[in-house]
Amino acid sequence: MSFILISSARFGDHMNPPGHPERVERADVMDSVAAEWARGGGIVREPRAATRDELLRVHTADHLAAIDQTAGQAVSLDPDTFTSPLSRDVALLAAGAAIGGVEAVIQSAAVRVLALVRPPGHHAERDKAMGFCLYNNVAAGAAHALAMGLERVVVMDYDVHHGNGTQWMFYDEPRVLYISTHQYPYYPGTGAAEEVGRGSGAGFTVNVPLEAGSTDGDYQEIFKAVVVPVIDQFRPELMLISAGFDAHERDPLARMRLSEAGYASLTSSLCDAADRHCRGRLVAVTEGGYELSALRACLESTVEVLADSRPTAPLFSSASSASSTSSGAPGLEGPPPGATARSRAARAAVRAAQSKYWRL
Ligand SMILES: [Zn+2]
Repeated sequence: MSFILISSARFGDHMNPPGHPERVERADVMDSVAAEWARGGGIVREPRAATRDELLRVHTADHLAAIDQTAGQAVSLDPDTFTSPLSRDVALLAAGAAIGGVEAVIQSAAVRVLALVRPPGHHAERDKAMGFCLYNNVAAGAAHALAMGLERVVVMDYDVHHGNGTQWMFYDEPRVLYISTHQYPYYPGTGAAEEVGRGSGAGFTVNVPLEAGSTDGDYQEIFKAVVVPVIDQFRPELMLISAGFDAHERDPLARMRLSEAGYASLTSSLCDAADRHCRGRLVAVTEGGYELSALRACLESTVEVLADSRPTAPLFSSASSASSTSSGAPGLEGPPPGATARSRAARAAVRAAQSKYWRL
């Protein structure tokens, strides 16, 4: 399995006002993680800019014009979302990184990609910037995969916030399965279990709303009982990850209790699913993560997992590996250690909303 990191020092050219959590120091963390990977002989590529036609697959022409008008200026687009003079160009690179990552994995199987980008993307709607996001990077990547002929793409979003933009862009689209685990109720307010998609897209949006305080064990229980089984039934040709690390226990914005080891175990289970269904094709694109030491630790462990450069002891075994081995590994029966009533409640809500679409 080969691994490519997409990174650019230019992601440090997007500035938010002083005190904003999506601060330029996040780019310094990304740069140093990429530099460390390159020093060890790893592959690091510069992104290209997304083209207008690529962005028009997920955004309106009016939205592209509105962002174009911010070029060269510091503009407030909503109470959370700002530009600095170079932000438009930087945001084009962020979307282009996701698109380029998708191209790389489709053109040669058994490749995993991590795109270290800012601004993040999953709150950006078809027609507006929102929640620190200008263009929806991962959605542009998913749309590019469809344009390249793929018919089943999964977007797994483990950022602590619900990815409203990605959900609505593909709400009617059965070729893109959007799965989100998120703190709920919380910003942006969407992401109830009952939001399941519409028309021919019904069942292809899977929301797992989790109460504040959810632990590594809760997330592992949800991945084992909901996320991995749904992915296994969908059989995607490509796995995209909205890789937000703001569900970390030290993150200042949210109130979840994931550790970096917990995040690594979730990513590892997604790699296993991509190996089973997608010939390994997996593209992770960064979203949130606002505590710098937690962000660094999560990025480093994500690189290690994606690059297969450390043995990961899976904290649970997926359904298919359970049937192919009889290791008797702990955790096959019952919830993982540390799971609480939060994951039980979320699992029940998802089952009630999704049981006519998926075997859960
Ligand atoms: Zn977030």
